[in-house]
Amino acid sequence: MMLQRVSGVIKTDEEIELIRISSLLVGKTLALMAAHLKPGINTLFLDKMAEEFIRDQNARPVFKGYNGFPASLCISVNEEVVHGIPGKRELKDGDVVSIDCGIEKNGFIGDSAYTFAVGQVSDENIRLLHVTHECLNRAVEAAVAGNRVGDISHAVQSHAEANGFGVVRELVGHGVGKSLHEKPEIPNYGKRGSGPLLKEGMVLAIEPMINRGVRNVKTLSDHWTVVTADLLPAAHYEHNVAVRKNKSEVLSSFREIIEAEKLNNNLNTKHHI
Ligand code: MG
Ligand code: MG
Repeated sequence: MMLQRVSGVIKTDEEIELIRISSLLVGKTLALMAAHLKPGINTLFLDKMAEEFIRDQNARPVFKGYNGFPASLCISVNEEVVHGIPGKRELKDGDVVSIDCGIEKNGFIGDSAYTFAVGQVSDENIRLLHVTHECLNRAVEAAVAGNRVGDISHAVQSHAEANGFGVVRELVGHGVGKSLHEKPEIPNYGKRGSGPLLKEGMVLAIEPMINRGVRNVKTLSDHWTVVTADLLPAAHYEHNVAVRKNKSEVLSSFREIIEAEKLNNNLNTKHHI
């Protein structure tokens, strides 16, 4: 089992293309969410819309039923960092909303997340989103064959902390493929040159989770929702990335999400890089 699991980390080009299909479908689902986000909407409404869209594409929302998770999306508002359960909570003007989505199609999984700013979001929260997205981009650049996981981790941590933000330690990125969570784990903190070697053909879900205040988090009594210890907002962006020689290749895409954001007058786009 162990050997099989380790060798399973390297994907063929055909497998990477299948992951890309699923990752791009996640982007389309998040773009649909971007078109409908507005104050007054509840998060369960968004989840149902996403699930219907995903199933219409002959695909499956992988979060639903994963360790008993009850929904297709994780929707995490303000102080909620990740794993927020869609429900009756209504979005309001000024909210920071992270939506995480995992989709399986043709046996392969895409897993990507984006954080939105609803209406009049404070300048400090806009800066949080902007910097977290920058952390993701810097981390992606480090996902090159011959580097180590610690190079990715360091890219996130150094940029977030230089901007005065807290880096969540309890949750990590991961390999992705036939399973949602594969080896290696990708922490958002760490030292350059440390950790597992990155090899051509690995596919990684890189996902900085960055807090405006302290790095500490706690889990609510629903056993899922992770919130910041100081209840200040958090942001979360996630891409799926194939490790290549001399470069990294992003398989997911925010392009359609950003286009939908720009067309939605209820969303603030000042955080765009
Ligand atoms: Mg995710
Ligand atoms: Mg993930």
